[in-house]
Amino acid sequence: MRRPRRAQDFKEFSYVKKFSDSEIRFKEFKGNQEVALIFPNNYRVASASLAWSWVQQLFLEKNIPVERFFYEKWFSKFYSIESFTPLDQFKVLMFTFHFELDFENIIDILLKLGIPPVAELRENHHPIVIIGGPITFFNIELVKPIADVIVAGDLEYNIEDISEGIRILLKDKEEGLRYFEELSNVITLRKNTLEKINLKNYDISQKIPVSHFITPFSEFKNKRLIEIGRGCIRRCAFCVMGHTKKPVKFVPPQVIENFVKNEKNSLGIISATITDYPWLDQLLEILEKYAVSFSVSSMRADGITDKLLKLLKKGGQNTFTIAPEGVSQKIRDEINKDITGDDLFKALELGRNNGFKNIKFYYIVGFENEDLNDYEELKIFIDKVKELGYTNISMSVNPLIPKKGTPFFGKKLIEEKQYNNIIKWMRTNIKGVKFHFESYKYSKKQYLYNILSEEEVKEAVLKTYSKKDID
Ligand code: SF4
Repeated sequence: MRRPRRAQDFKEFSYVKKFSDSEIRFKEFKGNQEVALIFPNNYRVASASLAWSWVQQLFLEKNIPVERFFYEKWFSKFYSIESFTPLDQFKVLMFTFHFELDFENIIDILLKLGIPPVAELRENHHPIVIIGGPITFFNIELVKPIADVIVAGDLEYNIEDISEGIRILLKDKEEGLRYFEELSNVITLRKNTLEKINLKNYDISQKIPVSHFITPFSEFKNKRLIEIGRGCIRRCAFCVMGHTKKPVKFVPPQVIENFVKNEKNSLGIISATITDYPWLDQLLEILEKYAVSFSVSSMRADGITDKLLKLLKKGGQNTFTIAPEGVSQKIRDEINKDITGDDLFKALELGRNNGFKNIKFYYIVGFENEDLNDYEELKIFIDKVKELGYTNISMSVNPLIPKKGTPFFGKKLIEEKQYNNIIKWMRTNIKGVKFHFESYKYSKKQYLYNILSEEEVKEAVLKTYSKKDID
């Protein structure tokens, strides 16, 4: 591709090129500038999502060359990672939709390309917008108004059919859409039904999902991502994954070993929580045997082992992260977290014995029955953490978002004033801790995206983005 002449375009092109050049790829992709795979968030987040790489690999196997894109608010052209082709040249735009707030980024991209954000306003000359990803599992109402085609559930189930549908679309849009209408797990504007959706977890045990590139700019810096389990065996009351992705599928250790024995890069292990992996000891032995360093996306306090922490520390991880979620035992019991104070302290002692000084906790606040006693219990807990020798304690605090698909759906979001009171109480009473409080504004938006009906989403998009923006 020729370098753009306009200064603004050149800036955007150079920005994308910086990330593209940073990637060490284990498979090369030559796109045909027809099908785009867009992660509607920045490169750091996109490259930490195995889906962004895995979906591209799945399509390549079916001879559909797909090019990757990411989002920045200031972008106007959106150049691809592979060939730096601007997005407006692509006929099929596939979005992988992971976070509710990315909704606004998807709309922004469509508007910048001159595509009406509401699907029913699009005409024959507009590209086709296909949306898949975790949001389709539990909040289809947010997706329906803006997608021409929704691929719900795990893509592996019908990658063959979806690829064929795209092939037909590229030749004849109408015929392609008719083909998609016949597929299960697919919703189109004209076939607005959920009847045939298969949300069961795809069995990943024979073909382990692994990313095809590494980059220093990822949240998993220079790590190759590998998915060892899909879904979660627990049912924490606030968590979508615990209520949608069943039955849980795990990759057996032998299959992981076959991959690991030839792997020279560090791994970012993706699973709901590594400590629920049924063959954890075997997995750790394999990683140790082949001297593969790794980090994990999440672990539960009740399953942490000495060996797991040793290997994490050896691999360069200095911060030990636990998510008690509830500020007291009463709350943890009410939300089904199934973790006791004993579990937490045993894990903390193991961490300290393995030389961890930095600890990060994740908490959710705003459950109905919380009172001052619960927060007093949190203060006592943090004092004990300090006594154990942790010198660098950080806490990430988020308001409860009662999400669709969970038992909390239908409950109210905490009031802003009450949330601010909690923040104030924590800052005043819990000293020596670095806090990160999620913004109330963003939490409120997430909440709203979980309660709006399909019609309300459509109306909101139409109201916010006037005809002038669309033309
Ligand atoms: S919070 Fe974690 S352990 Fe609980 S259901 Fe969700 S993923 Fe599983």
